[in-house]
Amino acid sequence: MGEQAFTPGSAAILLTHWLDALEASGAKRFPVDVKELALHVGQQLKWSDEIFEVRAANIDSFEGGLFQIEGRSWALLYNEQFDSAGRVRFTQAHELGHYLLHREVQGTFQCTQGDMVQRSPDQAPLEFEANTFASHLLMPMKQFRACTAGAAIDFDQLSDAANRFGVSLTAAALRWVQSTEESAMLVMARDGYMLWSVSSDKARDNGAFFRTRGRTVAMPPESIAASATKGTRGGEHVPLAAWFEHAHKDAVAREMKLACEAFGYTLSLLHLSAGDKVWEPRAWGSD
Ligand SMILES: [Zn+2]
Repeated sequence: MGEQAFTPGSAAILLTHWLDALEASGAKRFPVDVKELALHVGQQLKWSDEIFEVRAANIDSFEGGLFQIEGRSWALLYNEQFDSAGRVRFTQAHELGHYLLHREVQGTFQCTQGDMVQRSPDQAPLEFEANTFASHLLMPMKQFRACTAGAAIDFDQLSDAANRFGVSLTAAALRWVQSTEESAMLVMARDGYMLWSVSSDKARDNGAFFRTRGRTVAMPPESIAASATKGTRGGEHVPLAAWFEHAHKDAVAREMKLACEAFGYTLSLLHLSAGDKVWEPRAWGSD
């Protein structure tokens, strides 16, 4: 068998098929046991440079790493000095992504917390690909859809999904926004300013997105996100114009908010009607 050139999606699908087959023979399917997978995937692929070791290495400023030893086998290291199994699992999956996708590009990967949340393919393509792989591996589309289908999405449903797949709530919410056909947007903010914002394809088509890279964007003052409300996990209806000034004045959206007061973070999910477009009048239909 020759070397396969993987994309993040094709690598995750191959491993998902393996894990589905193992489940059929009685293995526990979720959360994905990334360590076990990493230790066997090289052999399965008939690659001569396998991952021989997966272990914790609690180094400050270091979330995870992948190191080729003497030009042969690989060691996968992860920081576990956080009380979040979901965060550790995502880190392991991210490093496994580097192994499957980038091991011929580099022999050393040292990844920070910032790399784990990299959502820009332009800024850091390898990190973005490793994250895409991790998200697809830990939350395969078929099972993720089954877990988030039905009633209108909210943070309770996403929390259930996060628990099932053993990931953080933010990772589950991102997976939903990046895979849904509905119009929705996820925003992480601190002290009233956006740290990042991700829109679904439908929302982007309708002009519902913010450009946060390299600029400071304040949270819309009329939003629930910017209010003193601690949280609305199930959502409240707000005028869409509170978020987007060019929205129709009668349009409403459902806004959900989670506040992490200790660190001043808020996570907001805005669920829009599929037909609501919020482009500036002269810019309709363009990006
Ligand atoms: Zn990385």
